[in-house]
Amino acid sequence: MRPTGKLHLGHYTGALENWVARQNELNADGSRAFDTYFLIADYHSLTTSLETTDIFDFTIDMVTDWLAAGVDPEKSPVFRQSQIKQHTELFLICSMLITASRLERNPTLKDQIRDLNMEAISYGHLGYPVLQAADILLYKGNIVPVGEDQLPHVEITREIARRFNKQYQHPKLGDVFEEPEPKITKFSRLAGLDGKTKMSKSLGNTILLSDQPEEILQKVRKAVTDTKKIRKNDPGRPEVCTVFSYHCRFSSPDKVEEIARDCRSGALGCVDCKKICSEAIAGELAPILEKRSDFAAQPNMVKDILLNGEEKARMVAEETMKEVREAMQIG
Ligand code: AMP
Repeated sequence: MRPTGKLHLGHYTGALENWVARQNELNADGSRAFDTYFLIADYHSLTTSLETTDIFDFTIDMVTDWLAAGVDPEKSPVFRQSQIKQHTELFLICSMLITASRLERNPTLKDQIRDLNMEAISYGHLGYPVLQAADILLYKGNIVPVGEDQLPHVEITREIARRFNKQYQHPKLGDVFEEPEPKITKFSRLAGLDGKTKMSKSLGNTILLSDQPEEILQKVRKAVTDTKKIRKNDPGRPEVCTVFSYHCRFSSPDKVEEIARDCRSGALGCVDCKKICSEAIAGELAPILEKRSDFAAQPNMVKDILLNGEEKARMVAEETMKEVREAMQIG
């Protein structure tokens, strides 16, 4: 995740809760199913803004949200990309293993250019998925829990891994890299409050993980619903309603069924429906909010978590780079 501002519900449903689930997943014998690594993509922030003054504060704030949502630094190293030089080293090598035209066809890049009204992009922005490939491959990542917008990037990572293995074989290991698989959730593209596109910091259509119940209610009140349901008793179409899509994630299955039925019949108006929805969201976020305030009171602990995570991650990254250099016969 890039430290570019406060985390929103899309980050939570598309990535963070999936991360925590993978972190806590056990095999039948009780051992952990995965070694999990959680990366703060601070260099990636530069792809859309060169402003760096807030990156550190955003990092601490973001890690506070991660910890509150259940990331356990004892199990999962939490670390900044910029503090592990092997990321830039592998990024450079990966950048030779993919063509510029392949990167220009990346649909996520096209969406970003459109959403942010960008007239031109930097060479580094074009290379966003190449740096991400280095982030994943350095830790021999085989499962990448991401939102839908990141799927093309995992595909590019697979192509780079394949190309490396074809070109360079390690004398003992043979293939250095495994091709990673993406792991998305049912809510890997959470809609924004404007109902037009996905929830996104840059589009200002978010509910934040740190919002208080009252703020959630205010925001959900403004959410776009079925535009054909004008009066309270008009029959509605839940399948086109943003608020209903939030119910699907945050309300119980029985409640979702009841809401769909009463919306369709016209028995339930949007005002009441939005109130129920914001209560369901606030209910789920309440324990996160509570833990968040505990961690927020201890910024030095968060800094120590980073330093520890970076030490662990650096060792793994250097092991991989040794294999890469051996396979390439460099140095
Ligand atoms: P970013 O803010 O681009 O660094 O995104 C961090 C992670 O959150 C990525 O895995 C994204 O795919 C995911 N993500 C961001 N916005 C959403 C959304 N609206 N719905 C689902 N996942 C999202």
